[in-house]
Amino acid sequence: MKEIILLKEGEIALKGLNKRQFEEAFIKNLRHRLKPLGKFEYTRAQSLIYCIPRDDDIDMDEAVSRAEKVFGAVAICRAAVTEKNMDSISAAAIEYCGEELEYARTFKVCAKRSDKGFPLNSPQICMELGGILSEKFPHLTVDVKNPQVTVNVEIRDTAAYIHTGNRPAAGGIPVGTSGKAMLLLSGGIDSPVAGYMMAKRGIDISAIHYVSPPYTSERALMKVEQLCEKISPYCGDTAFYCVPFTEIQEALRGNCPEELFTILMRRIMMEIAQRICEANGISALITGESVGQVASQTMGAIVCTDAACCMPVFRPVIGMDKTEIVEIARKIDTFDISIQPYEDCCTVFTPKHPKTKPSLAEVEAAQNSFDFEPLISKAVEETVKKVIKVGG
Ligand code: ATP
Ligand code: MG
Repeated sequence: MKEIILLKEGEIALKGLNKRQFEEAFIKNLRHRLKPLGKFEYTRAQSLIYCIPRDDDIDMDEAVSRAEKVFGAVAICRAAVTEKNMDSISAAAIEYCGEELEYARTFKVCAKRSDKGFPLNSPQICMELGGILSEKFPHLTVDVKNPQVTVNVEIRDTAAYIHTGNRPAAGGIPVGTSGKAMLLLSGGIDSPVAGYMMAKRGIDISAIHYVSPPYTSERALMKVEQLCEKISPYCGDTAFYCVPFTEIQEALRGNCPEELFTILMRRIMMEIAQRICEANGISALITGESVGQVASQTMGAIVCTDAACCMPVFRPVIGMDKTEIVEIARKIDTFDISIQPYEDCCTVFTPKHPKTKPSLAEVEAAQNSFDFEPLISKAVEETVKKVIKVGG
């Protein structure tokens, strides 16, 4: 049986004059995600986007699974396509919804007719199809208020569609409609979630990761690339920058007070990220910081980190508990990768007693006691030489 995928617009539907722009971005992202599965055609009507397969052998389970992760729709469903006459519609409803109806006790039919030339009106379609289904499945009773299964029939211009209802889609607004930001992606639980959350608001994400070989291993880097890959069904393709951070960390260790290591490291991370952003038209940074979670994320530490750069820093998980972050990490399937026990450049250089209430003056004085500039420039140069594309 021929099927299509229907996506119900969320916030896009509320846009004004620029609605079309958002719809186009949404369709462009859908197209990109579904293209490897075969040919699809896209149309829109009344805040619905129709993905119509044009090849016969398309894996529709995979297509739905991909489409439901593309930000921009609040609900998704797949529907059977049939000819616009009651015989075909009834036969299709029996075949397409039969299994669900078999296991239900109550049902109703809900009809919509946008093709006013169709000979029956909506209540008449409900009556006729309801009667046919009751006959075919005699164990069912009609419940118009709270049915276990609703058989929806939509009579459109070119065909009729039959389905049993929506399920939630990704929500948000299309990636690419809110500008670009750089995600500081560690191997932990929080930063992939932070990236997912900002992509949900339409931001096109690049990712940057800092490594300190030989203190951090190739496996640790692979883990982060895997995380980047995992969020790409939501975030789209991601430019992935990998910063060689060993020399800077060794210089910090040799020249600055140990209790300020983490905060100084974080400041230099921000500076490097900012320079790469400026050279690539990226306007903000994203981190997975949550206030109070660890010593480097106290209010005082965040003030000192922020002062190191002049671009906005988005911290979407700042007010969330770890359990709430974990819930999202599980949903987007990054959790199991994040908990693999590989070292991070921050953890291998963690001070025994980090200062939780550093003053900006002492942090700046510590950083100024050594000339980090040549090391920072070198790290930036080496990073931009080997940026890779992750996802697809
Ligand atoms: P996460 O779970 O995201 O690793 P965390 O709770 O472990 O966070 P920290 O290690 O203090 O917290 O890091 C805070 C934030 O700094 C991270 O969310 C991430 O945005 C950034 N960060 C830390 N280490 C790295 C790294 N090696 N490369 C890139 N960003 C990093
Ligand atoms: Mg971490």
